[in-house]
Amino acid sequence: MHRSTPRCLSRMTLRIFGASLFFSHMLFAQSSVAQSAMVESPLSNQEREIINWVAEQEDEMVALLERLTNINTGTLNKAGVTEVIGLLNTELLQLGFDSRSLAGDVIDMPSCPGSEYTLDVADHLLATKAGEGKRLLMIGHVDTVFPLDSPFQTFSREGDIAYGPGVSDMKGGLVVMLYALKALNHFGELEDKAISILLNSDEEVGSLSSRKYVEQQAALHDYGLVYESSGNNRLTRARKGLGQARFVVNGRASHAGGAHQQGRSAIKELAYKIVQIENMTDYESGVTVNVGVINGGEARNTIAPCAEALVDLRYPEPQQGLDAVKRWEEIFSSVYSYPVDSGELSTNSWTSLHRPPKIPTEQSDLLLNKTIAIGKLLGQELTVTDSGGGTDGSLTQAAGLPTLDSLGSDGTGAHSKREQGRISSLVERAQLSVVLIGRLAKQP
Ligand SMILES: [Zn+2]
Repeated sequence: MHRSTPRCLSRMTLRIFGASLFFSHMLFAQSSVAQSAMVESPLSNQEREIINWVAEQEDEMVALLERLTNINTGTLNKAGVTEVIGLLNTELLQLGFDSRSLAGDVIDMPSCPGSEYTLDVADHLLATKAGEGKRLLMIGHVDTVFPLDSPFQTFSREGDIAYGPGVSDMKGGLVVMLYALKALNHFGELEDKAISILLNSDEEVGSLSSRKYVEQQAALHDYGLVYESSGNNRLTRARKGLGQARFVVNGRASHAGGAHQQGRSAIKELAYKIVQIENMTDYESGVTVNVGVINGGEARNTIAPCAEALVDLRYPEPQQGLDAVKRWEEIFSSVYSYPVDSGELSTNSWTSLHRPPKIPTEQSDLLLNKTIAIGKLLGQELTVTDSGGGTDGSLTQAAGLPTLDSLGSDGTGAHSKREQGRISSLVERAQLSVVLIGRLAKQP
């Protein structure tokens, strides 16, 4: 049974206690960050040349986005995920990176008989390049939430809008990332820079396998740049933490007519537990819990021997995550539905606080404001938002790496068949990254 350790969360609680109090009061309206009027020096002639070159690559960028989108990379589709990682690896090797695979994992989850659930995660990729100046870690995920049997599989385009699974979350971001690197390389500006690229294959299931690699790399770099979508031209400043639980109630099957009293209904117990779990939601403190999937039972006239549920948790502060898991454990170990249990009612559970909250720091705000200021130089009006969703940027930021995590293309409708991306944002965001990478690398 796989269980995430809360160790780094507790450490973080101490380190950012002050920030965390502040955080809970400002959360999840439009971010109220006191944006310093950061002034960036005007674009140099070379920066202008590079961004002009990026603009000329739009057709190629769209072609790559179409190609990547048409390869299904639902997290559990290992073949598709591996194909896309291989394709990007080839490009990175041509740019002078060294690369190696980082082993994926097989993670078994508790489940009822017949609904076995195993996460078999494809290998991830780390590409590195030695250089001078600040060390930059660029992160992107190749997986999407759309499995092989989803009806939403292909890229299409209408004018400036692209449609397709992952066009904005985040195959658009992968294209942005790659073309920013290609542009720097074309002008001889990549060679001297210390840049690592981490492409993971399991972000959409919470980076359960890649988390350790993301955190290891965070410790080896100076800035984290995550290429999740900049939906509606917004950069994300703060994010809630995420947790999840999967639990299975085992009861005793019996005939619903002939031997009702001998049965122990797993569905009945599950229902009681669901009420307890749903009652943990507290909008005031920002903690929300959602029982998103349930499954169980065998037949109308059989007392259910097994039932299971999948639970989502969102929390603004690290301690709230730890408290929620403690409460879950109480609920899982209690029996609510039968006053005297025969001992045949039991619960197996798996829990994970897979994303810590992303709590802004002075350094991450400087990075955010620098990016907005560079955006202005390029005529891009970027605004700031907070989010209830997590990314790998939450992991790197919690590990102490100042991280900006919405550097990918502009788009909306992620995780739905309405997913779409603004084509012209591919060039815009690659231009933004080119200037940002160049200037960050040169920082003293
Ligand atoms: Zn994503």
